[in-house]
Amino acid sequence: MRLGVAAALVDGVYRTGDVEIDAEGRITAVGVPGRGRGLAVPGLVDLQVNGFAGVDFLTADAEEFTRAGVALARTGVLAYQPTLITSAPEQTIAAIAAAGKARTNGGARILGVHLEGPFLSPERPGTHPVELLREPDVALARRLLAAGPVTEVTLAPELPGALDVVAECMRSGVLVSCGHSDATAAQAHAAFDRGARLVTHLFDAMRPFTHRDPGIVGAALTRGEVLLGLIADPSHLAQETIRLAFQAAPGRVVLVTDALAACGQPDGHYRLGEVEFDVAGGVARRTDGTLVGSTITLVEAVRHACHAAGVAVEQAFNAATRTPARLFPGKDIGLLRPGDRADVVVLDDELSARTVLQNGVPLDA
Ligand code: ZN
Repeated sequence: MRLGVAAALVDGVYRTGDVEIDAEGRITAVGVPGRGRGLAVPGLVDLQVNGFAGVDFLTADAEEFTRAGVALARTGVLAYQPTLITSAPEQTIAAIAAAGKARTNGGARILGVHLEGPFLSPERPGTHPVELLREPDVALARRLLAAGPVTEVTLAPELPGALDVVAECMRSGVLVSCGHSDATAAQAHAAFDRGARLVTHLFDAMRPFTHRDPGIVGAALTRGEVLLGLIADPSHLAQETIRLAFQAAPGRVVLVTDALAACGQPDGHYRLGEVEFDVAGGVARRTDGTLVGSTITLVEAVRHACHAAGVAVEQAFNAATRTPARLFPGKDIGLLRPGDRADVVVLDDELSARTVLQNGVPLDA
């Protein structure tokens, strides 16, 4: 089967020509001559999704995970990390276990759980309930990691004991991301030196960058091995800030949505764990005005990065496919090359998803 596209993003590089897929759902050829339309990109990868289509992952059962995963796949996201905001340990443990039991069933693949908390700074809580934040504690970290398939932990590296939790995560093969943090550059470097490889929503909920006090932002931008999560929606970051990140850290930006249960739903009143919030005009805020997360889809974030912030199409899509996939070697995600699984999104000229294929099979629109 041929996709009928004019070009594809092959191993991160724009290449003209069609794409051929075999009956086993594998890509067999790229750059095939023909007269197609649109662009094929790999299935998108979102490392930070709190909920989707009315489902909050903190309280979701297996059936709800499936429903959210199917809805996510239709938007072009074919692999993701359900992300849990800070809650009481027992609730977090139950949610991790529920994610472990969830089955894909035609929806986006679950890479593993991203724990955003509870070892976050009360100075930079964002929307996390301050009363539930904890000082880093290796014993609690072990309990959380043992509860199910945890793949990433966001923590504030300056907190006492944080580096011990980083070490525990490294021993368990779990990614560590620095975020919700008031860390200085030196404190961030200490975590990167011990293996932290990500920053959670760069610029948001962290010490601001200044010339004499560059904080996590400055430290991370100067470290070639550190990937930078970025919420590229109009309410979280200015266009220049998005462009700055891409220019300063080529190949290291990872677009994330930080999507909520409200994503793909109408404006109204919603919950994220213990937090209640309202969505108006697509922007989610608590009653005190704090941004809660986003209601943007990942392909919308890519489009915003391209159309509003002027990021090259290739770079913006790599930040939602190939770059996050580097963190999951062997998972056969985020790439479109001969031999790869045909998880593909076909876009029209406006970069809207026209068709989504999983294992070479088109999903229902
Ligand atoms: Zn956050």
